[in-house]
Amino acid sequence: MTNNEWTLCYRGYDPAQEGLRESLCTVGNGYLATRGAAPESEADGVHYPGTYAAGVYNRLSTDIAGHTVDNECLVNLPNWLTLTFRVDGGSWFDLDSVTVLDYEQYLDLRQAVLVRRLRFRDGGGRTTAVTQRRFVSMRFKHGCALEVTVVPLDWSGTLELRSGIDGRVENRLVQRYRDLPGRHLEPLRATELSGDSVLLEMRTNQSRVAVAVAARSVLRRGDQEPSTSGPSYRLVQQADWVGHDIGVEVRAGEAVTLEKLVTVFTGRDRAISEPGAEAARWLDRLGDFDEMLRGHILAWAHLWDRFHVELGQRGEELCIVRLHLLHLLQTVSPNTTELDAGVPARGLHGEAYRGHVLWDELFVFPILNLRIPALTRALLRYRYRRLPEARQAAADLGHRGARYPWQSGSDGREESQQLHLNPLSGRWLADPTPLQFHIGLAIAYNTWQYYQASGDREFLANYGTEMLVEIARFFASLTTYDRARDRYVIRGVMGPDEFHSGYPDRPGKGIDNNAYTNVLVVWTLLRAAEALEVIPRRTRTELEQTLGLRAEDLQRWQDITHKMLVPFHGDGVISQFEGYGLLRELDWEDYRRRYGNIQRLDRILEAEGDDVNRYQAGKQADVLMLFYLFSADELGELFHRLGYRLEHDTIPRTIDYYLARTSHGSTLSAVVHAWVLARANRDRALEFFDRALRSDITDIQGGTTPEGIHLAAMAGSFDLLQRCFSGLETRQDRLQLNPLWPKSLGVPELAIHYREHPLRLRISGSQVDVAAEEGMQRPVEVACHGEVARLEPGSTVRFSS
Ligand code: BGC
Repeated sequence: MTNNEWTLCYRGYDPAQEGLRESLCTVGNGYLATRGAAPESEADGVHYPGTYAAGVYNRLSTDIAGHTVDNECLVNLPNWLTLTFRVDGGSWFDLDSVTVLDYEQYLDLRQAVLVRRLRFRDGGGRTTAVTQRRFVSMRFKHGCALEVTVVPLDWSGTLELRSGIDGRVENRLVQRYRDLPGRHLEPLRATELSGDSVLLEMRTNQSRVAVAVAARSVLRRGDQEPSTSGPSYRLVQQADWVGHDIGVEVRAGEAVTLEKLVTVFTGRDRAISEPGAEAARWLDRLGDFDEMLRGHILAWAHLWDRFHVELGQRGEELCIVRLHLLHLLQTVSPNTTELDAGVPARGLHGEAYRGHVLWDELFVFPILNLRIPALTRALLRYRYRRLPEARQAAADLGHRGARYPWQSGSDGREESQQLHLNPLSGRWLADPTPLQFHIGLAIAYNTWQYYQASGDREFLANYGTEMLVEIARFFASLTTYDRARDRYVIRGVMGPDEFHSGYPDRPGKGIDNNAYTNVLVVWTLLRAAEALEVIPRRTRTELEQTLGLRAEDLQRWQDITHKMLVPFHGDGVISQFEGYGLLRELDWEDYRRRYGNIQRLDRILEAEGDDVNRYQAGKQADVLMLFYLFSADELGELFHRLGYRLEHDTIPRTIDYYLARTSHGSTLSAVVHAWVLARANRDRALEFFDRALRSDITDIQGGTTPEGIHLAAMAGSFDLLQRCFSGLETRQDRLQLNPLWPKSLGVPELAIHYREHPLRLRISGSQVDVAAEEGMQRPVEVACHGEVARLEPGSTVRFSS
C-alpha cells in the first residue's frame, strides 16, 4: 500500500486482502454506496459485491437453538457493477485463473473515483490490459457510473463484454450470520428499455420496498464517438438478472471502452412516482460518463472546501484522515438530508451490525455540527421520528418518557440480535446489550451539542426539547431514591463497556450505578430543564400540557441533579459501577501470552467456560467517556453540584486505573483513550491516535473491516485533531479554544462552520488565528487563553499566549 495526501493506492492482487480493500475502496454518496468489488466478481469467499442504500431495511426470521429469531438488515441491493468479458467465445474473465502481470488499484480521495488497472496473460497466451473507473455521483444521488477500457496488447479477435444488473445477490458477507436467512429481494420485472439499456425491478420480501436499477452500456472504440454500428447487442435476461452481451471485433493495440451508466431508485425515495419509471426516465437524462464525472467532482470540491484540513508535512496521516472524511461523507452527506436515515455504525460499506444505527453518532456529529449542521439536524430527526416507538418501549418497561433502542433500524424498535454466536465456542448466547439504555443519553447530548454549535432555536423548540424532555423523563423514572444513603440510584443497566452485563451471580441482569450513566443523567436533566427555559413560553406550555409534565417532575429532576450517586473505589478512583472494585483482577499477561490478540476477551473467557463479568476487565472506555464528553471544568461543576470533590488527581488516577484493565475490543476505545490522555500523557495519546488512525486501514481487529468500516473511529480520529488537540468546545454560546497541539502533527489548518460563519482555524505554536469569511452574519464570541474576542464577518482574531 502506498499513499500520498490524496490517494489510497494498492499494488498487486492479493486475494486474502480483497475483502479489506473492498470496504476501504467503497464509493458512495450518502444515498447509496457500493463496495470496491471487482466488476467481474460474484460473492465467492474472496470477492463480495455489495450495494446498500441508506434506510432500506428488510426483516427475516428463522429458528436458532430452539428460538425464533428475527433480524432486520440493511439490504444488499442488485449489483449494478456486473461487467465481464471473454475472447473468441472462451471462458469469462476470472482474475483468479489468469496470470496477473501488473495490478494496481487506487482510490482518488479528492474526486471519490476508484481506478483499477491490470495487465494479464490468459490461458491462450494473449496479453490484455484493462482499466476501470467508477464513482457514485455526489451530484446526482441516483446516478452511478463505471467505465471499462480493454486493450488487446498482442492479439486480435472477437471481444464479448457482458454488462448487466445482478439481482441474485443475498446478504452473506458476515461469516457469523451465515446460518441466518439472507435472501431479502424478490424479482418483479426484468426489461430491455432499448437496444443498449435494461431495467431490473425487485422488491424486498418483507418491508415491500421496491428497488429499481437501470443501466445503459455504450461501447466506444479508441477516441471515437459511441459506435452502434460495429458492436452487436444481445439481450441476456432472467427473472433476477438482466443485461447485454456486446460483441465487437478488436485488433491488437486498439482500445475499446464501455461506459456503463446506472440509475438506482427505491420505494423510500421522495419526489418520485414509482422507482422503476424513475430509474428509466433518469437514465435518459444522465449524459455521458465525462459529463456525470464533472458534476460529481464539483460536488466533492465543494465538500472538501467545507472539510478542508492541512497538516503541514504529515503526508501519510493526512491521507488517512482524508480517507476517513471521505468515508464519512460517503455514508452521510447532503444527499442524506432528505432521507429518513440515521448513521449506520459500519457505514454503507458492509453488513456488520446489519446496517443498524447505534450510539456511534456521538462520535460523528461533532464533525458534522461544525461543517454541515443541516445534516446533523436531518439525522437527529431520524431519532425524532422514532420518539413514539421509544415512548412505547419505555411504557413496556413500566417507565415514563422515551427509551431509545440500542440498535435501531427502520421503525425504531430494538433491533439488537436476540442471540449472538460466539465463534470461538460455537455457542449461541443471549445478547444483553439492549440494557445499554445510555444510548438515550447520547441522543440527548447530541441534541444539545447540535443546538450549541448551530444556535438553531427553531430545532430546539420544535423537536429538540421534546426529545430531551422525554429522555430525561425516562431516566428520572428509572432512578429510585435510596433513603439510607440519601442518594438517587439507577439499577440494572449496562454501561458502554459491554463486557459487564451483570454481577457474576446474575449475568445479563445489568449492573447498578454505572458512573457514566448516572453523571450523564444529571447533565441531561439539567439540559432538558434549560431547553424548557430557552424555547418560547407558548411552546413550553404546549409541550408541558401534551406530555403531562408537572412542576413536581421538574422539582424531582432538580433533586436528582444534587443527589445522584456516583460510586468510587476506596482509593478515590471513580468506579465503573457499584461493586466493580470487588471483582477479580485478570492475569492480563497470561491471557496475552496464551492468546496474542485478546481484544475480545469476553469470547475467549466464555469459550473457556468462564465469564468476563467476574473480572475487572473492560472492552472499551466507560468511566473514561466522561472525560471525553466533558472538559475538566464542566465535570468539576457537575461533581461539585452532586457534593463530590474531583481532586486534582482523580482524573489521572482514574485514567491509569482503567487503562490497565481495558482490552480495547472496540475501535472507539482508542479514540477515547487518545482524547483523555492528550493533556496528561502526550506520547501515549499519540500512540492511541495512531491506533485510531490505523483501525481500519490495517484492519486492527483482524477481520472486521472487510465487514464494514468503523465509522465512529474514522470520525473520532479526525475529531482528535479538530476538537481534542485544539481544545475546541462550543459551550455557553461561545467558540472556546484551548490548544495543546502536538508539534509532531505539523501546523494544522482546519475549516469549521460555527453559527453560520465559515471559519478557518490555524494553530502554530502558541498562536491561534481564527478567520471569518465576509458575510452578513451576526458576530460571534471566540475565547482562547483566557481572552474573549468578538469575531465579525470578514475579520481575523489572533490569540497568542
Ligand atoms: C461497541 C459499541 C459500538 C458498536 C458499533 C461495539 O463493538 O462496543 O460501543 O456502538 O461496536 O460500532
